[in-house]
Amino acid sequence: MTRLLLIGAPGAGKGTQAVKLAETFGIPAISTGDIFRDNVKNETELGKLAKSYMDRGEYVPDSVTNDLVRDRLTQADAKPGFLLDGYPRTADQVVELDGMLTDAGTALDAVVLLTADTDEVVRRLLNRAIEQGRADDTEDVIRRRLEVYEEQTAPLVNTYSARNLVVTVDGLGAVDEVTARILAALAQRGISA
Ligand code: ADP
Repeated sequence: MTRLLLIGAPGAGKGTQAVKLAETFGIPAISTGDIFRDNVKNETELGKLAKSYMDRGEYVPDSVTNDLVRDRLTQADAKPGFLLDGYPRTADQVVELDGMLTDAGTALDAVVLLTADTDEVVRRLLNRAIEQGRADDTEDVIRRRLEVYEEQTAPLVNTYSARNLVVTVDGLGAVDEVTARILAALAQRGISA
């Protein structure tokens, strides 16, 4: 079975591709952003805490996010494989995920890096703000999210490159085209559904 990570700037199209890839591989797509948003919607304690960070474009504290993922990965559907979308996003989260996988006696198969230039991602996010009304899609917060991504998450690509796990795919173009590119890039590494 397949264990994948999806990394990319806000607006690169991770969520959209995560769903398609998960379907293809028959694994659950686990999006920390979606889990936080569900909790915000249901006004849980976790949701209240997460919202205070998300509304400002900041990351939810590592301790909270790590516990959430640890719990999610022990659920039955994630045992054979998973696609993590939006986790890990910090160096500390990488260390934690390494520990979770080691404990489970497994390892990652690949890290898909979805690229898109800044103008394009800002355009997409502003568009999404109009279509979906996400609270963190205002221009100031978008700018902050991009900054936080560059500072904290972009460096993780080097970490995973050093482990020879990164597959870089151009996220510009039609949704199906991008999916096909990702599948082709994974197949080249011998990873297929
Ligand atoms: P995007 O990548 O488009 O910004 P996400 O839905 O992946 O959107 O995440 C939205 C917000 O949820 C982030 O800005 C952050 O506040 C929070 N979040 C999601 N994943 C993590 C994570 N791994 N660590 C900390 N915070 C996270």
